[in-house]
Amino acid sequence: MEFIAVNFLEPGDRAVVAVHGVFGMRMANLTESMGVETRRVPFEWGKPVDRDILFAAIDEVRPKLVHVVSGETSTGVYQDMAGMADFAHQRGALFSIDCVTSLSGMPVEIDRWGVDLAFSGTQKCLGCPPGLSPVTVSERAVKSFEGRRTPVPSFYLNLKELLAYVGTGKGGARAYHHTAPVNMVYALNEALRLILEEGLEVRWQRHQSAAEYLIGQMKPLGFEPLVDASCRLHPLTTLRLPEGLDEAAVRGRLLKEDDIEVGGGLGPLAGKIWRIGLMGENARPEVVDRLVAALQRQL
Ligand SMILES: *Cc1c(COP(=O)(O)O)cnc(C)c1O
Repeated sequence: MEFIAVNFLEPGDRAVVAVHGVFGMRMANLTESMGVETRRVPFEWGKPVDRDILFAAIDEVRPKLVHVVSGETSTGVYQDMAGMADFAHQRGALFSIDCVTSLSGMPVEIDRWGVDLAFSGTQKCLGCPPGLSPVTVSERAVKSFEGRRTPVPSFYLNLKELLAYVGTGKGGARAYHHTAPVNMVYALNEALRLILEEGLEVRWQRHQSAAEYLIGQMKPLGFEPLVDASCRLHPLTTLRLPEGLDEAAVRGRLLKEDDIEVGGGLGPLAGKIWRIGLMGENARPEVVDRLVAALQRQL
């Protein structure tokens, strides 16, 4: 997130950030703290971004960058990105997405969607230890970067230095930049190998099946999905709670006695929903069965 903010925005630039959960809000807070004129376009938490409202804000603001979260882990919404990058490009903006939770759990079509900038994390659906944040940068974004007026206010995240580090600097030269966590590079390589072995589309389907199974098993216990079936983030299911449940106490006991961590609601959804992650290896029916059995005991 910060890599995108420090390289592709400068103080005084304008950005439009769709905010329909914690992670859009985090991006808007970050760009604002850097002196970027940030237009937050708010949407109800638990609903997707409304394209027309976002496009109207882009038309009005004429930003340098538009940012939309692909999988809002705070609300369980998966965002349809079709047409968004094209619109941003027509208005002269770069289009950036947060695919931390969606990458390898649901479609993330960087090239087909025309995404300029995206960041993810190794620890969610990639099923890898935490520690690396894969990013992608389009040619259009590199051109925009080359037109910067001010130096990048970061050493570690400086795109120019990083391009030289991976051997795509001027003349294909490779230059020392920082000491990379090579243990994590091996871990990511293995995680990606496993993903290719399974097949990306099979993996997406596995995440969807696990989420649907979870919803089916939780319904008899009084939990109802928060998000409409048309835009559910399968790796992270949000459920409305049954009447009268002491939700924090039950989550506390699940963690303490059953070693199962269930996320609570955030922001306006605090105390109203649970957030259940079934990501990577956890996206399997046996994992759901274990949770449901533990929950039945606790209730
Ligand atoms: C988890 C998550 C992040 C933050 O990842 P960290 O590695 O914990 O900083 C950002 N965006 C989304 C959508 C996430 O789910």
